[in-house]
Amino acid sequence: MSSSSDQKLAHVALLPSAGMGHLTPFLRLAALLTARNVQVTFITPHPTVSLTESQALSGFFASFPQVKQKQFHLLPLEENSVDPFFYQMQLIKSSCHLLSPLLSALTPSLSVFITDMTLASTVIPITQAISLPNYVLFTSSAKMMTLFLSYPTLAGSKALDDLDETDVIKIRNVELMPKSLLPPPLLQKSNNFFKNSFIEDGRKVTESCGILLNTFVSFELESLRKINDGQVLERPPSVVAIGPFPPCNSEKSQLQLTWLDDQPAGSVLYVSFGSRTALARDQIRELGEGLIKSGSRFVWMVKDKKVDKEDSEELEEVIGHELMERVKEKGLIVKDWLNQDGILSHRAVGGFLSHCGWNSVMEAAWHGVRILAWPQNGDQKINADIVERIGLGTWVKSWGWSGEMLVKGAEIAERIRESMGNESLRIQALGIKEDARKAVGFGGSSDKGLTELISMWKHF
Ligand code: UDP
Ligand code: UDP
Repeated sequence: MSSSSDQKLAHVALLPSAGMGHLTPFLRLAALLTARNVQVTFITPHPTVSLTESQALSGFFASFPQVKQKQFHLLPLEENSVDPFFYQMQLIKSSCHLLSPLLSALTPSLSVFITDMTLASTVIPITQAISLPNYVLFTSSAKMMTLFLSYPTLAGSKALDDLDETDVIKIRNVELMPKSLLPPPLLQKSNNFFKNSFIEDGRKVTESCGILLNTFVSFELESLRKINDGQVLERPPSVVAIGPFPPCNSEKSQLQLTWLDDQPAGSVLYVSFGSRTALARDQIRELGEGLIKSGSRFVWMVKDKKVDKEDSEELEEVIGHELMERVKEKGLIVKDWLNQDGILSHRAVGGFLSHCGWNSVMEAAWHGVRILAWPQNGDQKINADIVERIGLGTWVKSWGWSGEMLVKGAEIAERIRESMGNESLRIQALGIKEDARKAVGFGGSSDKGLTELISMWKHF
């Protein structure tokens, strides 16, 4: 016979951070928890930065009426020049004192609160003050998390300054990664938003009840082991890999991709740099040249501005009339939001030229699509390194960070041909897909991790 606390439903509130790269995994986690009979309250910072975020939210609440929405009205701050997504993170943090009355008023009372890692330093003290167990969803890789946990110690240390680009960073004698993979703001001597919050959040996250990761054990065994064995931090919070988060029902595309239906299986390369990375105009045009020269079929998501509301120029103005005409013969070019999952799951798609945002990596793994990595910013080189080591794809390291050089069309074409013609990569990617499905399937590592968490939360 089950006890009455087994019958009790856990009530979980979720608070995402700015941008689709953070919102999407939170929505997927909300859907996963709902499917497991957890009561979910989703807190939505208002207004959002991008139109896509507000559309994703309304689509989600229409599909999941059982999830309660609580709007969190952000207080205005003096405008500053930081990236609009970072600015939004600052807004959320500076409005965070409004969270305690909001959380305390929820009924039934909350079992736990799950917040984004970029908000950890502000949210954790608030939850501690009202004795509410706080978990953090880290929306990047476990490998990035080894850096997140160790960077507060590394920052400003001579050990880091003295290393050459290719030297390996060590923490407590454990090898972390070559310095060349680090997000550039973390190597700057001067203060910047990314570095400051990375230090503050990385420090405070150790006081959370646990960290959830959208990754899976067989994909990131080594990093997860390093963290959980106490090699990175002596007493780390419990870290549980519960991914990849399957896409949820509300993510259907408006766009009909009938063109894709007519293409041979595995023949199409999908090209996208995520929700917030716009390549420079000259690089966009070289990429177009490369796509044509590669001879491959492709679907190309062109992004000209960081924030979609400002992305108002016609596609033809961005890539030029002549290139536009030639590109159309071989592929599909889109400047609106495309549901990436709908593309990666299509039988015609066999490759993904990706910036390696972590959600994109997990989605490629989920669908078994090989990656040609072209990291641009932030955690993306760390993620590209994982992709290459596990055999999900390849990475041309000489292409550097965004804006460091202009990669020419001929070079891009050659790398696309190599990637699309690589039969062993195709097979490896399918093997990774199987592993990903096993991890979240009944009794798999991620499934078990989430089941154990939920049963613990019922007793909180
Ligand atoms: N995405 C999408 N359509 C687009 C661009 C992005 O559906 O046209 C989704 C993608 O599937 C992923 C998220 O937006 O879930 C982007 O997150 P990621 O971590 O890959 O990169 P970021 O945008 O944060 O750089
Ligand atoms: N990050 C963080 N705190 C911040 C900003 C960034 O922890 O305030 C970490 C986090 O791991 C994030 C990664 O840096 O996923 C890359 O950040 P970026 O802004 O480049 O991309 P995002 O993931 O936000 O799309």
